[in-house]
Amino acid sequence: MCPGSFDPVTNGHLDIIERSAALFDEIIVAVGVNKTKARMFDTDERCAMITAATAAMANVRVERYEGLTTDFCRKHAIKVIVKGLRAVSDFDYELQMAQMNHSLARVETLFLHTNPQYSFLSSSLVKEVATWGGDVSSLVPPVVLERLKDRLAR
Ligand code: ADP
Repeated sequence: MCPGSFDPVTNGHLDIIERSAALFDEIIVAVGVNKTKARMFDTDERCAMITAATAAMANVRVERYEGLTTDFCRKHAIKVIVKGLRAVSDFDYELQMAQMNHSLARVETLFLHTNPQYSFLSSSLVKEVATWGGDVSSLVPPVVLERLKDRLAR
């Protein structure tokens, strides 16, 4: 599984998803539902954007989940979580999370290095740049660009 909040999905996420799909028979992109966190896009919108952006990837499907990632893994018999690492700053937290998930459910976490083209890219930065009128067209898939424009025009 490739878990995350994907608010919204970026080309950095899609690069990780596509490379994961080349390594495994099946990839579930698992969209976390966290009611306490403020989001620009609701869960349905976030799932719809990923579904559209991964339409050409035959072994990728999108699911939502609430609660522990390891409970989702157990339910779907998932043995491997794939995460992207952008910089050393991602590492401390991701290592802690990977070790916790392994201790909870013996699930392994595989880290893929970011594509250097996208190492500076995060959903929050995309939202911030887009909010102030910056051009994010090379950073997100067309479906996200459309929805961002639509949301910010309101
Ligand atoms: P979260 O809500 O857990 O912060 P995100 O939705 O931002 O998660 O990201 C989900 C996963 O995608 C994380 O493993 C994160 O490291 C990875 N990721 C995000 N942006 C990039 C990127 N530009 N390159 C590689 N991996 C990325």
